[in-house]
Amino acid sequence: MDADVLIIGGGIAGLSLAWALAPARRVVLVEAEPGLARHTSSRSARQMQPNYGPPAIRELTLRSIAMVEEISAGLPAPILKPRPLITLGTRDEVEALLAGHPSLTRLTHAETMARSPELRAEKFQVAALDDTAKEVDVPALLDFYRTHALAGGAAILTGSPATEAAPDGQGGFTVTAGERSISARVVVNAAGAWADGMARLFGAQPRGLVPYRRSVAIVSTEHPVDPAGPMVEPADESYYYRPDGGHLLISPCESVPAPAGDAQVVVEDIARLIRRIGEVTTVGPAGVVRAWTGLRTEAADGLPVVGFDSLVPNFFWLAGQGGYGIQTSAALATLSAQLIRGGLAETDAGLAAALSPQRAGLGRPAPA
Ligand SMILES: Cc1cc2nc3c(=O)[nH]c(=O)nc-3n(C[C@H](O)[C@H](O)[C@H](O)COP(=O)(O)OP(=O)(O)OC[C@H]3O[C@@H](n4cnc5c(N)ncnc54)[C@H](O)[C@@H]3O)c2cc1C
Repeated sequence: MDADVLIIGGGIAGLSLAWALAPARRVVLVEAEPGLARHTSSRSARQMQPNYGPPAIRELTLRSIAMVEEISAGLPAPILKPRPLITLGTRDEVEALLAGHPSLTRLTHAETMARSPELRAEKFQVAALDDTAKEVDVPALLDFYRTHALAGGAAILTGSPATEAAPDGQGGFTVTAGERSISARVVVNAAGAWADGMARLFGAQPRGLVPYRRSVAIVSTEHPVDPAGPMVEPADESYYYRPDGGHLLISPCESVPAPAGDAQVVVEDIARLIRRIGEVTTVGPAGVVRAWTGLRTEAADGLPVVGFDSLVPNFFWLAGQGGYGIQTSAALATLSAQLIRGGLAETDAGLAAALSPQRAGLGRPAPA
């Protein structure tokens, strides 16, 4: 089987790139699991928050929101819906946040209580509001990327782990994935938590990408939660909650190094957070409806690693999206497609340099 571009990994990174490259390139995507997006891409909190993360991430998020809104316009139901974000804190904490994020709005104590009446009044002073934050229908977005990649002629092979790679003598690679041998001019490493291991398979230097586990639980509540209510977090980002289908979605926001694999929930983390939500709100969190854990894979500087490897020609990185892989997917895929095809907009040269696999500071040893 031949491809112009072989993408390894069928999460949101790989699928969005397949969408952005097909039909201009013959794309083959291989996914190790029997189904697509079984790992982190189906385990997120499903948010797009334009004020979350460093400046490069915020830029990519704004672009992605605009692109997903355009995508959504052609679909029967919107992929994005408003889910404002309220960040609680002391006056000093909130002023510091507002200083760095001019598009946030200052909320008084009374204004915050009006928007989130479940809060216990004594637990915060003031808040910052991001009225532009969105909740994303991630399955619908993944399905859009997948169906448009297929319509553009891409081949998507599940149950096909890439296990061997060798130069093909013409500047490309021959890759064994499941039963198949695939020849490709360019290989894209979109293997999520496995990305550094994948790099080794191709003789590339790992970039110090570390998977960190984080959990989310859906809990029932004793008192009803307004389904249109905001997402709420404290300024130290030590937890968040938001309404979700008549229940409450909560996360203890843990960030614990973990091996690449099928990450599992640590029950005590959720139990501790349920107690805390009970202390800061009056909703009365009750039983856990379901809970999951995923891996946020990050480079040392917290930015994605995107671009060609300078020492292994035609090996392209699309990894290290950390906690931003959903909200940046459309823009990162478009940027990657431009880098692979050629024709990067001059105005994006700075962004591409900031994400380059060759940038300084990558390649730290994994934490013990
Ligand atoms: C609790 C939690 C909440 C989050 N909330 C948000 C949020 O609200 N907004 C946001 O933007 N981001 C969020 N994220 C982050 C986001 O989910 C990730 O950044 C994103 O899903 C990463 O996508 P990916 O495609 O790189 O990785 P994955 O989805 O993990 O995909 C990588 C794929 O590569 C495959 N693979 C690995 N090795 C091989 C191989 N040898 N051969 C073939 N295939 C292989 C794997 O099986 C896997 O399917 C959250 C993450 C967590 C854990």
